[in-house]
Formats: sequence, C-alpha cells, structure tokens
Amino acid sequence: MSDVAERLAELRESGLHRRLRLVEGAQGPHVTLDGRPVLLLCSNDYLGLTGHPRVREAAAKAALEWGAGAGASRLISGNMAPHRRLEERLAAFKGYESALLFGSGYLANMGTISALAGRGAVVFSDELNHASIVDGCRLARAETFVYRHGDAEHLAWGLRRAGGRGSLIVSDGVFSMDGDVAPLEDLARLARAHGCRLMVDEAHATGALGPGGRGSVAAAGLSEEVDVVVGTLGKALGSYGAYACASAELRDYLLNTARSFVFSTAPPPPAVAAALSSLELLEAEPARVGRLRANAAALREGLRDEGLGAGGGESQIVPLRVGEAGPTMALCERLLEQGVFAQGIRPPTVPPGSSRIRFSVMATHEGAELRDAARRAGEAARELGLVPAVPLAA
Ligand SMILES: *Cc1c(COP(=O)(O)O)cnc(C)c1O
Repeated sequence: MSDVAERLAELRESGLHRRLRLVEGAQGPHVTLDGRPVLLLCSNDYLGLTGHPRVREAAAKAALEWGAGAGASRLISGNMAPHRRLEERLAAFKGYESALLFGSGYLANMGTISALAGRGAVVFSDELNHASIVDGCRLARAETFVYRHGDAEHLAWGLRRAGGRGSLIVSDGVFSMDGDVAPLEDLARLARAHGCRLMVDEAHATGALGPGGRGSVAAAGLSEEVDVVVGTLGKALGSYGAYACASAELRDYLLNTARSFVFSTAPPPPAVAAALSSLELLEAEPARVGRLRANAAALREGLRDEGLGAGGGESQIVPLRVGEAGPTMALCERLLEQGVFAQGIRPPTVPPGSSRIRFSVMATHEGAELRDAARRAGEAARELGLVPAVPLAA
C-alpha cells in the first residue's frame, strides 16, 4: 500500500476519516443535504446574512461594476475602492484607527502572527486557539509558548520565564469549538505588564457578542488595549475574506510585511461588497444579534430539559460533548436521520477524547424548531446509550 492509502486506512480505522456532504441552495435554517431536507445547525452564517436579498444584490452589482476578481494583489494593481470602503467601515465599527483586508481568516492569522513575532521572540498562544493561529505560530520564526486554556496564571508563568522576549499574546475571543470567551481582562493586564502586543481573533464574536455585535473585545471595553483584532468576513458577515483592525502604523507594517497579504490576490470585489452590505445591515438592524442570543438560549434550555448539558456559556456555539469519535459520529448520523444536521467534531479539530456535536444556531431559526431539535438529540442520545454518559459541561 502507498503511504497515502495507509494513512487513509488508519483514519478510517480510528473513526477520523472525513468526507464532504453536499448542500443544495443557499445557507439558511433549512437546506437540502445530500438530497434530504434538514434543519441546518452547523452553519457559521449566524445572522442569516449570506442569503439576504440586499447582500446578494450588492455582490451582483459589484460583479457588474468591478468584475469578478481583483486581478492582482493589493500592492500591485488589485486595490480598488470597495476594498478601501470596507476597511474604513470595519475600522469604524470596531473602534480602531484602521483595518486591512486579507483573503481569509486563515491567511490573516498566518500573516499577522508571523509578521509580529520574529526570530528570538516568544509568542504566547492559548491551547485551544484555532488551527490558523497554531499555523501562524508555526510559520513565525519566534518560539511558541502554549498556555493552558484560559489559564492566566500559566500564561503569567510563561511570560516571566521568557524574561522580556515576549512579543505577542494571541487568543480566540470566542473559542471556535467550545464557545467560551477568553479572559480578555487578564490577557490585557499581562500584555501591559510584560510589554507584549495582544491580538484577539473575533471570528465567532463579531456579529454575535458585544454592543451591536462589535465583538468580545468591545464587550469587555478593551479596544484601547488590544493591538490587533482579527475577524473573518465568512461567518456572521456572510461573505468571504477577513480583516485585521489595528493602529495606522501597525496596518502600514502589516501591509509591508505580512506575506499572506503581500503575496496573495486581493479579495474579489463581489465578496468585499457583500461583506460591506452585511455590515451595513448589522449596524442598521442590531436586533439580529439579540435574536441569535435568544436562539442559543432556547437550544441550550431544550437540551437541558433532555438531560443534555451543553457548554459554551451563552454563545451561539453550543457544544455537546460526547468523548470518543465513534459515538460522536453515530450521534451525528442518528440526528441526520431525524432531519437535524449538526456536524460531529473530532480530532485534530479538538483534542482526543473531547469529540462533540457542535450545534451552532442562527438568528433566523425559530425557537420551536430549536426545541424540537433538542428533543431529537435527547432521543438519539438515549437510543445510543449516551445518557447520562454525556457530561454536563464541555
Ligand atoms: C473560521 C475561523 C478562522 C478562519 O477564518 P476563514 O475566513 O474561514 O479562513 C480563523 N479563526 C477562527 C477562530 C475561526 O473560527
């Protein structure tokens, strides 16, 4: 057998092999999955904006006016008015001096971390940070100190040990697979005390948390203390691409040194215009954020009534921890048979032994359908003998 075939066989044996499922139609509370209608509970289109008529129209109009693609990187000839407009609007929304667009959140983290953490320095990263942050740390020439999840004391110990070489602390704002919020006050205090920069990834916080959906940093009132806020346009903002908000000086530095910015084509005008339209809708109709939170509460309450305690605090990410990959995927399949689509999450996305069903709700779900989904999850878990083995908190 070739090494590829061998590795694939290993993945199958350990229940970690993945395959693509096909969604028909736009994202929304209901989609057709592999030919079957399902309630969609694992989309990051949290505010239901990707299918919004105004957002679709903005993308279509931009395609007609500016073309389908940007044609080059921003520094060559791909910098257009839509890019500048969106950057200004994002910076104002987040309360920062400036913003810089990237091709995706993955690229934003890779580029920003490697630009800010050079040889001889130390970058501090939460153990549950998103894979794109992990890869950004790997790409950086700095050493990485991985601190225990949300553990400010462990971080402080690492900072002391680095003896002044610390250059950057980086954390998810809302953790992508757990839904909990980083201890931002502690991170800001430690960054200040040790002369480090602080970077927060708001992929799951923008549009979901804080005043008007401005994110976890704004919710904590820490915009002055967080040097870089990264966010994606691909989740609550319903499009594709990403941004880093920072001072004008830091933006200038990233624009010159972040390799994933310099050496990659500028985001396509239709995607940029769609994100701008979403942002305008979010600012005009902040009630969407409240609906998202109410829906998260409805699903959690429904699960609790079934004896299934979910984690994730109050966020729209509702993880139901199962443990091993096999039973997690069995529960996922059983739910699918019941018309509920919530993806099972396994290693390497989460640490071994912490596989889970990760429900994510949208502002456009109905409370009643979420409670019904919770009932089905309860039934499926009981049929599979997973109750009361499902722990109360993820
Ligand atoms: C989704 C996600 C990213 C990646 O963003 P993309 O725009 O999808 O590449 C980065 N960080 C976190 C925390 C995420 O959840």
